[in-house]
Amino acid sequence: MSVTGEFEALYGVEPEGIWAAPGRVNLIGEYTDFNDGFVMPLALPHTAVAAVARRTDGVLRIHSADVEGGIVQLDVDSLEPLSGTGWAAYPAGVAWALREAGHPVTGADIHLASTVPTGAGLSSSAALEVVTALALNDLCGLGLTRPELAVIAQRAENAFVGVPCGVMDQMASACSVAGHALHLDTRDLSFRQVPFDLAARGLRLLVVDTRVKHALGDGAYAERRAGCEAGARALGVRALRDVPYAHLPDALARLDDETVRRYVRHVVSDNERVERTIALLDAGDVRAVGPVLTEGHLSLRDDLRVSCAELDLAVETACAAGALGARMTGGGFGGSAVVLVESRAADAVGSAVEKAFAEAGYAAPRVFPAVPSEGARRLSA
Ligand code: ADP
Ligand code: MG
Repeated sequence: MSVTGEFEALYGVEPEGIWAAPGRVNLIGEYTDFNDGFVMPLALPHTAVAAVARRTDGVLRIHSADVEGGIVQLDVDSLEPLSGTGWAAYPAGVAWALREAGHPVTGADIHLASTVPTGAGLSSSAALEVVTALALNDLCGLGLTRPELAVIAQRAENAFVGVPCGVMDQMASACSVAGHALHLDTRDLSFRQVPFDLAARGLRLLVVDTRVKHALGDGAYAERRAGCEAGARALGVRALRDVPYAHLPDALARLDDETVRRYVRHVVSDNERVERTIALLDAGDVRAVGPVLTEGHLSLRDDLRVSCAELDLAVETACAAGALGARMTGGGFGGSAVVLVESRAADAVGSAVEKAFAEAGYAAPRVFPAVPSEGARRLSA
């Protein structure tokens, strides 16, 4: 059944519109977004779709085609942060964050269905938030810009769900343009659409979803974040973004803590890798981005130490099988890797990774092309 049909079967009325918001992969710039740094994500063809109708009685009803358990019914006046409403906290948090910011959200019926793999580092959570934010923005006539909606969505995830994520995922989902990567400055949310038409150049970007998530991940993110903040304090800057790459050796020499030094080296060098990637893309030298990705992986593996055996195997195998470069993407400890590869070699590289996983006794990875796709949009009136 279509999302419209499902909505009508659930709520007994027609939806007022259908919206879609994509998941994303990050090409380069990892763990830089909470350091006011640069990132370069692109939207995936996979989307969360929402059918929505307004309500004026303060009732918020939310349903997902992808989880068991029926409709979650809440009251917009009594939405409580961190109150543990499970998956529904993501869309409910958006209604809460909009109201917190003074916007008149008086209830809604929402039905969601998503093709973004969950927990794979591809931002299924941001897709859910952004599609909800865009739908409520349109239906309630709020007039918020895409970056404003992304900030609302991030606030929902940070304060309502309780996940301390940066703003990259929501910005990528809200602001991406097909055929482009999003060069985003996470300090002021300024961004530029960088042409990234791989197919025209005989190239492909593969996503390797390792299908593992190691429990270590959650605490480790907070620990890296705290370490980066300690580094910025020790260096007397507002955020690590303010350490120019040329000053990195001096900065490292001023840090006593070996762990903090490694984190600072990763963040400052990954910021530089984003800039180098942009310069290469602007010069039309897309193939040369490959080694920059691999360099980024080594930094995430050795300095930030957020990789894992499955991600390392994916990257090493892809490179050995002829990829131009590869790296883990997203928070690490599982999730996905990205692989830049000649189109004609894509199948062989994908097969090599699958074979290596089978030989290592790992679950079969999911390998698919990351086609740079459109950001959040309304699908129907
Ligand atoms: P990621 O964003 O990398 O996919 P997260 O852990 O941040 O991983 O978000 C995944 C969570 O988002 C899921 O556990 C679930 O609570 C929620 N979620 C994502 N997609 C859906 C969906 N289609 N229906 C219901 N909940 C979803
Ligand atoms: Mg997420």
